[in-house]
Amino acid sequence: MKFHVMTLFPEMVEQAFHNSIMKRAVEQGLISLETVNIRDYTLDKHGKVDDYPYGGGAGMLMQAQPVYDCYQAVARGLKEKTRVIYLSPKGRVFHQELAKELAAEEELVFLCGHYEGVDQRVLDEIVTDEISIGDYVLTGGEIAAVVVMDAVARLVPGVLSNEASASEESHEGHLLEYPQYSRPEVWRDKQVPEVLLSGHHENIRKWRREQSVIATARQRPDLLEAADLSEEEKKLAKQYILC
Ligand code: SAM
Repeated sequence: MKFHVMTLFPEMVEQAFHNSIMKRAVEQGLISLETVNIRDYTLDKHGKVDDYPYGGGAGMLMQAQPVYDCYQAVARGLKEKTRVIYLSPKGRVFHQELAKELAAEEELVFLCGHYEGVDQRVLDEIVTDEISIGDYVLTGGEIAAVVVMDAVARLVPGVLSNEASASEESHEGHLLEYPQYSRPEVWRDKQVPEVLLSGHHENIRKWRREQSVIATARQRPDLLEAADLSEEEKKLAKQYILC
């Protein structure tokens, strides 16, 4: 998976690839990151990339020209249908299914806005997807791009050392993950649930599934609508939604 990020602050994005799983994935050649500084493409002799919005209003807007020329430079090495994602609070809200869809692509291009955003004309010209990471407003798209790339990268085969860990996590099958415990067996008088020490795989699987249903009912009942639950599980969920 190759990520190309158009940004005014490349170091904000690069930083996220310098540690832990993302760093190892880059070293193993499973993912790669190219950041491109939009400012390098401005024709303004003072290096300006923003200007006042027509019609008035607060703040400055990123101008079309530097963004477009930057994209042209990035696009030269890309396949024709490569998706170009503009991170934006106006976009559709990012979720695990979309992460999976994006992980199936070979390359992705991200455009990070700043200030009050980007001139609409260049967005109309180059952007295929507008994605928000949530219903709040950030100062720039860099952190949002990192969030999306992180979620996508860990779905690329080989990035997680244990493939099962992605398939049993929260949001798989529209359920949240069951609670997890590690050593010691007793901590501050709190005992690890007996079933997890039993070595009985089927009982552990059943207990985890039940706990997933309960956690989802308690914390995100809105997810349950899309979850594939048995009649028994629906009854169980109902008990916890009402609590
Ligand atoms: N004026 C814009 C509006 O009201 O929709 C907000 C601009 S915001 C201050 C600056 C940039 O941060 C945006 O262009 C976008 O790239 C990024 N951004 C802000 N909030 C975001 C979010 N929730 N998800 C993704 N990107 C976001």
